[in-house]
Amino acid sequence: MTVPLVDGFGRVHRDLRISITDRCNFRCSYCMPEEGMTWLPRTELLSFEEIFRVASVMVDRFGVDSIRLTGGEPTVRAHLPTLVGMLADLPVDLALTTNGATLRALAPDLAAAGLRRINVSCDSLRRDRFEQITKRDLLDKVLDGIDAALEAGLAPVKVNAVLMRGVNDDEILDFARYGRERGVVVRFIEYMPLDAQGAWDNESVVTFDEIHRRIDAEFPLEEVPNGSAPAERFRYRDGGGEIGIVASVTRSFCDRCDRVRLTAEGAFRNCLFAVDEFDLRGLLRSGADDDALADLIARAVGAKWAGHAINQVHFIRPTRSMSQIGG
Ligand code: SAM
Ligand code: SF4
Repeated sequence: MTVPLVDGFGRVHRDLRISITDRCNFRCSYCMPEEGMTWLPRTELLSFEEIFRVASVMVDRFGVDSIRLTGGEPTVRAHLPTLVGMLADLPVDLALTTNGATLRALAPDLAAAGLRRINVSCDSLRRDRFEQITKRDLLDKVLDGIDAALEAGLAPVKVNAVLMRGVNDDEILDFARYGRERGVVVRFIEYMPLDAQGAWDNESVVTFDEIHRRIDAEFPLEEVPNGSAPAERFRYRDGGGEIGIVASVTRSFCDRCDRVRLTAEGAFRNCLFAVDEFDLRGLLRSGADDDALADLIARAVGAKWAGHAINQVHFIRPTRSMSQIGG
């Protein structure tokens, strides 16, 4: 029997983010340090069978209908299409978030395995700046990867751009033009305090208001109603497509958040900013049955707090970076 996964504030959770690796072939400054990362040993990562088991419990017991694979960089995990094929058998909207560098080779196999949608992260359209942010000279590969995803039919392709003051905030209109020309939905993301270096501060956030104002002045926008999804959606009044703005900092969507997370090593998290984690891997490997897994998941969601409290005195910065939690 399916029961809704409700927390103490009445929010129903239907969206599961699964990090399948903490490793990454990039070193984005806002996400992980350039050096000094230690990766989880292979044996600590959940196997595909373990990931599938947790996903099945989430679907069968709690009616989860949306699963997104992320990381670290999910495409560095070997045999990714095999995992996609396993999860595609579940009645869920299956999506992937990737840096896109290897999509030219992978996109057809992912689409064939049953992937529905893809988000590709790209924070600059200028080669030197892209390299400065990611520490990799791979902008051409990422842009080609986005084209490959479009050709493979993974529509709509969304491009995630994290905006940082003084780094890439002068590219807002370039991104808008790029999205209109290529037929991709650019999603502008407010920079969150999840960078490994602790460099985030309020001044570095490019706000929803600024992003919206600057695009609307050049290409007039109108709002698209968007239910519970975190991105606020807007379409160009001239029919030139759509953008999203994910304003986690200045317009927090905690009151309608329907997400939970599974880390690469099998910890269940009820929030990106959670301080506590719940050890699902321990249960899985001790031979626990589905009832026990479902109990732990329900308990974890029951402990979810009202909101992340960024910019409030009681905000606690997670000790793990975005790449370790799974964005
Ligand atoms: N490696 C994949 C990628 O880059 O798309 C998936 C993992 S990444 C952690 C998921 C998303 O989190 C990316 O869109 C990335 O831009 C975003 N992200 C990482 N650190 C962030 C931060 N400090 N603030 C806002 N978004 C961040
Ligand atoms: Fe890697 Fe994605 Fe983090 Fe960049 S944002 S370092 S690509 S995990």
